[in-house]
Amino acid sequence: MCFVTPRQPLKNAIIALSLLALAAPLAANESEDEDGRHAAPATADQAAPRPEDPDGPPARRDEDRDDDGGEARESAANQDEAEPEPAMPPAPDPVAPLTLLDQSVPVGTFDTLYWTPDQSFRSIATPVPVLVAHGTKPGPHLCLTAAVHGDELNGIEMVRRLMYELEPDELAGTVVGVPIVNLDGFRNGSRYLSDRRDLNRYFPGRKSGSAASRVAYSLFENIVRHCGYLVDLHTGSQKRINQPQLRADLEDPRVVAFAKHFGGMTVLHSPPADGMLRAAAVDEGIVAVTMEAGGPNRLEEEAVDYGVQALETLLENLDMRKASRFWGAPQPVFYESEWIRAGQGGILLSEVELNEQVSKGQILGTVTDPISNTGSAIIAPYDGRVLGMAVNQVVHAGFAAYRIGEEKSAEEVEAKAEQAQEQGDSDGDGTNDDAAPADEPDRPDGDTE
Ligand SMILES: [Zn+2]
Repeated sequence: MCFVTPRQPLKNAIIALSLLALAAPLAANESEDEDGRHAAPATADQAAPRPEDPDGPPARRDEDRDDDGGEARESAANQDEAEPEPAMPPAPDPVAPLTLLDQSVPVGTFDTLYWTPDQSFRSIATPVPVLVAHGTKPGPHLCLTAAVHGDELNGIEMVRRLMYELEPDELAGTVVGVPIVNLDGFRNGSRYLSDRRDLNRYFPGRKSGSAASRVAYSLFENIVRHCGYLVDLHTGSQKRINQPQLRADLEDPRVVAFAKHFGGMTVLHSPPADGMLRAAAVDEGIVAVTMEAGGPNRLEEEAVDYGVQALETLLENLDMRKASRFWGAPQPVFYESEWIRAGQGGILLSEVELNEQVSKGQILGTVTDPISNTGSAIIAPYDGRVLGMAVNQVVHAGFAAYRIGEEKSAEEVEAKAEQAQEQGDSDGDGTNDDAAPADEPDRPDGDTE
């Protein structure tokens, strides 16, 4: 199938693709996770040869690039300063055309660009559509990525809805939306790349790395580096569903401030993990969060609508445009959370629902061995809210079944972020989770973003 440039046909194409994916075998549906990674420069001609040992360790290229979101604005501003005394009011347009993916997007326009990851034969590679709304007024560069996991459909629809309601001539700044990052996975109804790797474990990627690492590198270099802010859209993974929520490193004050722009959305503290798009972005100074909503392999109207409303609120709070609707609960609710696991294998049947408030000691669900008829209950270890959960299914002992969040006040979160920042400055280790119930990274069973 092919994409065409005009906006309407593209929209139709995306819908058609989504429907195709839905026609694929529907596993139960739910899980959460987000991810993202960057991939290598798609275009060989733009990458200056860099001395890299193809077999050596990942090259660190932290300092060799600037975030160029600001570059165009700066040069435009300099031009303004250099202008002679204007007899008339100065032209109110300090914004320069946007250069992205070797193309130029004029001020005040909407365009569809194409990104080609360097992962396949160039002659058969399918370009990935990239939607751009480049505003007439100066403002942030906000990027939205969806379907880094090809089976996570809700984010695709969120990007479509948001991008096509933007009015570039009314917009301050630039919004870049990549509706389907992992086009191969999307076509196959799969979370993974065609080499079975999880793209969201390979960011920022390596130019000479594995196939997944190259895709990650290309996305990161060609698109993500142009962003000032990034929202990576995901759903639960592998038979788990998520209450709409942001995953954010709440030990980073910049990320905390950004997370507060999404209106009343739940914000979950989630430390950055190696290879995740949002972690790699934050490492490079791009303020990033993951948004999780619903489960994989399906389109959920309520989750999509909730996510779009949060993104609209974000645009308003970044002063990019006026919101078209208002959020009822303007303050986010912050949570620390933990996965509660099955103590034995068997058939999991839940007794709670997503977003339900539970009390310490309450039975969340039961696991029963279908042969011996022996069972056990999974108990809530503290008061909290069900932010993510497995659907009823057969599980093994240790399966992460319920994500229970414990509410934290904004003041508590901010104080902790500052403390972590200070501690990080002194010892270089951002982990100070004295009360962390488990030391292992909270990414069991592929349920992470
Ligand atoms: Zn995901």
